[in-house]
Amino acid sequence: MLSNIRVVLVGTSHSGNIGSVARAMKTMGLTNLYLAEPRTEIDGHSIALAAGAADVLKDVTIVDSLADAIADCSLVIATSARNRTLDWPMLSPRQAGEKLAAESDNSSVAIVFGRENHGLSNEELQLCNYHLAIPANADYSSLNLAQAVQIVCYETRMAELAKVEEPQEVIEYPHAVDLERFFNHLESTLLNTGFIIKNHPGQVMTKLRRLFSRARIESQEMNILRGILTSIDRTTDSDKK
Ligand code: SAH
Repeated sequence: MLSNIRVVLVGTSHSGNIGSVARAMKTMGLTNLYLAEPRTEIDGHSIALAAGAADVLKDVTIVDSLADAIADCSLVIATSARNRTLDWPMLSPRQAGEKLAAESDNSSVAIVFGRENHGLSNEELQLCNYHLAIPANADYSSLNLAQAVQIVCYETRMAELAKVEEPQEVIEYPHAVDLERFFNHLESTLLNTGFIIKNHPGQVMTKLRRLFSRARIESQEMNILRGILTSIDRTTDSDKK
C-alpha cells in the first residue's frame, strides 16, 4: 500500500525541511522519497526533524534532475503555490490523492515539490501530467514545504483508505521518459516538414505538450502517433533524396 507513490523534492536547500518531509510522509504511510539536485546534504537537522521517520531518510534516492526522478513514472503531479502560471491541467489535493491512490496499483507515480525560494521552473512543470495548487489564502498562499507535503500525503492516504477493491480496467499510460521521446520525435518531424522553423520555434511545442497532458495520452495512442510520425519521416526523407 502506497509504496508505488514517490515524493520528489527538487532543489531543496534547508536540510531540516527534508527531515520534516520524511516525518510528514511516514505519518501518512508513504516512504518513497527522492531528492532531485538537492542543495544540501542530509545532516543532523534532518535527522532531528524526521524524529521517528529517520528510516525514510536512510532509504532516500538522490538523483541529478527531476527528469531522472520521474523517468519510470506513469503519473506525475507537480505542486505549485502559484496558480495557473502555465494553464496546465489542474487537480485539487483531493483529486490528486484519488489519482495517486488509483494509479499506483499498477505502476510508479510521483508527486513533485519545488524549491523553498522559487518553486519549480516552467521547464520542470512541463515535465508533469498535472499541476496541483493547495487552495490557500490568495494573499499568502506559500506553505512551508513539509506542510504542503503533509496535505497531499494526507489526501492520498484518505483516498487509499476509501478505495473499494473492485477490479478496474487497467489503462497503461506512458512513462515520463517515453513521453519525452515522443515529444522529441514530434519536434524533429515538425522541424523536418518545416512546420517549426528552427530559429523561430515559438510556443508550438509548449502548446502541444499541454494538449497531450490534457488528453492524458495512453501508451497505445502514443504508439499510433509514433507510427504516424515515422511514416511522415519516411516521405520527407525520400523527398530530400
Ligand atoms: N515562492 C515559491 C514557493 C515555494 S514553497 C513559489 O513561488 O513557488 C515550496 C514548495 O512547497 C512549492 O514549490 C510547492 O511544491 C509547495 N507548496 C507551497 N505552497 C503550496 C500551495 N499553496 N500549493 C501547492 N504547493 C505548495
